[in-house]
Amino acid sequence: MTSSLLQTYARANVAFERGDGAWLTATNGERYLDFGGGIAVASLGYSHPHLVKTLKEQGEKLWHSSNLFQIPDGERLAARLTEATFADVAFFTNSGAEANECAIKMARKYHSANGQPNRYRIVTFEGAFHGRTLATIAAGGQQKYIEGFGPKVDGFDQVPFNDLDALKKAIGPDTGALMIEPIQGEGGLRSAPPAFLKALRELCDERGMLLIYDEVQTGVGRTGALYAYQLTGVTPDIMSTAKGIGGGFPLGACLATKEAAKGMTVGTHGTTYGGNPLAMAIGNAVLDVVLAPGFLDGVKKKGLLLRQRLAELKDRHPTVIEDVRGEGLIMGLKIKAETLNAAFAAAGRAEHVLTIPAGDNVVRLLPPLIISEDELAEGVRRLDATCSRIERERAAAAEKGAA
Ligand SMILES: *Cc1c(COP(=O)(O)O)cnc(C)c1O
Repeated sequence: MTSSLLQTYARANVAFERGDGAWLTATNGERYLDFGGGIAVASLGYSHPHLVKTLKEQGEKLWHSSNLFQIPDGERLAARLTEATFADVAFFTNSGAEANECAIKMARKYHSANGQPNRYRIVTFEGAFHGRTLATIAAGGQQKYIEGFGPKVDGFDQVPFNDLDALKKAIGPDTGALMIEPIQGEGGLRSAPPAFLKALRELCDERGMLLIYDEVQTGVGRTGALYAYQLTGVTPDIMSTAKGIGGGFPLGACLATKEAAKGMTVGTHGTTYGGNPLAMAIGNAVLDVVLAPGFLDGVKKKGLLLRQRLAELKDRHPTVIEDVRGEGLIMGLKIKAETLNAAFAAAGRAEHVLTIPAGDNVVRLLPPLIISEDELAEGVRRLDATCSRIERERAAAAEKGAA
């Protein structure tokens, strides 16, 4: 099939036309159990009645008014997010990369406002992913995303993940912030050890640096806490959130303490769409569900169940699965090198379960947070069938090789 789309994605040959809870139905009528959540976006699954109702009601009232006017639902969403987190203020965006752009600009502006404009440098970590804008590819530091796009945006220094000595060496007089995903998503579900995160906080406090958490993937209940930082007792100064916060509607936010945000005064930053009434209505609707009593406890419980089932899966298929990683409902299976993670995801599609490849030959499991325990068990059965399929394919290939 020829396509008029810019070909920057290698898409699987399946299109979905409707979704219901944790299930997606393709144009040919086949149903898939979604353990990918549209890359951690469909936090409430598909066609959630509260989201659909909100979208319809707000859609008939007002979609957009611009940030030149008051947006009461935006005030309300910011108040709820700051009430539920360390933050004092929020800036709304349309994506995770934009939320990180705001975080990066805010950190730089903070030091500039303090009379130290030289402290614009930010240390980031190998395996990081912060988005695809020019600044966020520089922050992420992955050569495959930077290559060919001209001079890399200056101001980012990268060190290995979980290497405190390398970090200390990389911090210089111009370093103003450290930026980290508490659990690397695209990088392959690598969790930063709590002691490492504590050390980052201490270094920031000692040297007057800001700690930036990228919780675009880990936020909004994914780990069983509203934000992953709440699991370790280490609190950032600035935090980005997106993906799950819109439940499928493009929405992100940069959250910060009043102190960290002090340089971001009138006129210093902006967005046309960010925080528009339609997005704000939906963000509030997502929070209605995620902050309801018991919801996050349910995610924690399902996360434990999933982890246990995945450990059993690994025991049954030791030649396919090397490691089980993650927290809550952001889990990863490291696939043995003999099979590429993309091939595992394709085999999963054949078994009608969707997974998402990540770095380090990992497939991510990011089911909607509203998935039922029965559906989780069904998904793991399908992953089991996926592993068996791979084992059969390997055996057939070996036989062919011997013949
Ligand atoms: C997805 C992601 C981003 C980028 O978000 P977009 O909405 O694609 O711009 C940034 N950081 C992390 C950790 C992510 O997972």
